[in-house]
Amino acid sequence: MTRKMLIAGNWKMNGLQENRTDFQNMIDGISPSAFDLHDVLICPPATLLYTFSKMAKGSGMLVGGEDCHPAASGAHTGDISAAMLADAGADYCIVGHSERRADHKETSALIKEKANAVLQNSMTAIVCVGETLAERKSGNATEVVTQQIRASLPTAATAKNCVIAYEPVWAIGTGVTATIDDIAEMHTAIRKLLHEIGGEALAAARVLYGGSVKPSNAAEIFAIDDVDGGLIGGASLKAEDFNAIVAAAG
Ligand code: PEP
Repeated sequence: MTRKMLIAGNWKMNGLQENRTDFQNMIDGISPSAFDLHDVLICPPATLLYTFSKMAKGSGMLVGGEDCHPAASGAHTGDISAAMLADAGADYCIVGHSERRADHKETSALIKEKANAVLQNSMTAIVCVGETLAERKSGNATEVVTQQIRASLPTAATAKNCVIAYEPVWAIGTGVTATIDDIAEMHTAIRKLLHEIGGEALAAARVLYGGSVKPSNAAEIFAIDDVDGGLIGGASLKAEDFNAIVAAAG
């Protein structure tokens, strides 16, 4: 089955107004045919989302949020609802990034609520999962990822409204990438699990790899069966690198 690749950048807590130039260089540097062939997305910090959504209009570039609160509105100082992200122009929202799971003690149950909120606001949820180094070393990587997916997927998950990002925690921001065999094995296991949970309809969901993807390794990773694109952290901050990764998707 052919699935449209998704190349998604996660800017994390990086980016000021001056970085509009970098975003514009991404839009200008990606070929119209790449925008036709693939979905290309940048998730900037919330302070840049509205500006970026205006800049991206008509270009093919998509924008998204990095996280959201599960509630629609209310007394949650400092938080941002899915409705606010959609209102600012977001097409997608990342939930359950390992930095949220670790730094903010987010559980899969909370991540599921967030993902539900994303879907209720007509955006696509990118649900992140991944094992720690200790979990991989003890042979529990697949079990950990399986449990995370079962407990974090939104209730009404389909291949259209939901994307899984497999991001081994030990490969994020470290420069260390999982081996091609490890990535292939996990993505095959995830595809099988999606089939078990939701049949053909859910098994067609895109499964991204994330963890130190860069211009030099992107083509090899994207060529793996069952890898439908990437979630890119550090290398999504510079237009030159991000555009080269998009080009590597073919
Ligand atoms: C990420 O934060 O989702 C990520 C994959 O980061 P990096 O590409 O920097 O490893």
